[in-house]
Amino acid sequence: MKSLREVIKEVEQKKTAIGHFNVSNLEQLKAVANAAGNLNLPVIVGVSEGEREYIGIPQIVSLVKNYRAQGIRMYLNADHTRSLENVEKAACAGFDSVIFDAANLPFEENVRNTIDARNFIKKYSSWRHKILFEGELGYIGTSSEIRTALPEGAAVRPEDLTKPEEALKFVKATGVNMLAPAVGNVHGMFANMPDPGLDLERIKAIRDAVRIPLVLHGGSGNTDADFRGAIDAGISIIHISTELRVAWRKALEETLKSNPNEVAPYELMPGVIKAVQNVVERRMRLFADLPSS
Ligand SMILES: [Zn+2]
Repeated sequence: MKSLREVIKEVEQKKTAIGHFNVSNLEQLKAVANAAGNLNLPVIVGVSEGEREYIGIPQIVSLVKNYRAQGIRMYLNADHTRSLENVEKAACAGFDSVIFDAANLPFEENVRNTIDARNFIKKYSSWRHKILFEGELGYIGTSSEIRTALPEGAAVRPEDLTKPEEALKFVKATGVNMLAPAVGNVHGMFANMPDPGLDLERIKAIRDAVRIPLVLHGGSGNTDADFRGAIDAGISIIHISTELRVAWRKALEETLKSNPNEVAPYELMPGVIKAVQNVVERRMRLFADLPSS
């Protein structure tokens, strides 16, 4: 199987992007694996610190390994890692990439902490297993939830978005392999409207300045046109989390309601898996520039 670095290079050349989907249980993981297998596309599975703790690090690592052995091109990312201890745990457990998130801190502190995290990653990274390291610049809120208002302090005004010259300074100082900028994206999605629009010009300016792959977080709730524009402007990885959670919950509620006497999980869950899988497939098709089914 190709390394994640090679896959990212490939999508860059094709002007497409690879989907990153967060999971917190077996059903969501199955949904992502089924989608990737069906479409024969590479995929990144992301687990935040909370998701890692819930599933278990050795458990998720071996599940992903098993899917790979079955031919699914699945990569594992340690999403939004906020402590050095957790950076080290993920790096030594065999994750393909680690995101260190100190984006809520002032610039200099973010740089200092990100350098510390990079040094941990280096310790466990080798030519045989190169761990990609992602840093974040610009605050976009933290949790994947249904919102009625913007997260407090999130950068959405043009003057608050990540600036190309600051991004370059950050990348040079920290040596990150990938960068997650604030370009009008926010974590979570809104109850009754699409997310605020993305600043495509800004994405392009940042990509031209830093010349490393850019990652779009908080993809749930953005429009298809914004996604295509963002990929054209230089985004290589797109994170989707809330949409999967919403599909999971909705399908679960409906299934339980319409099967009041069923108690076997393997009877109840296939429909839930399918509902999440449909969301993943729709996003993967869009990101890979395949026609929608
Ligand atoms: Zn994120």
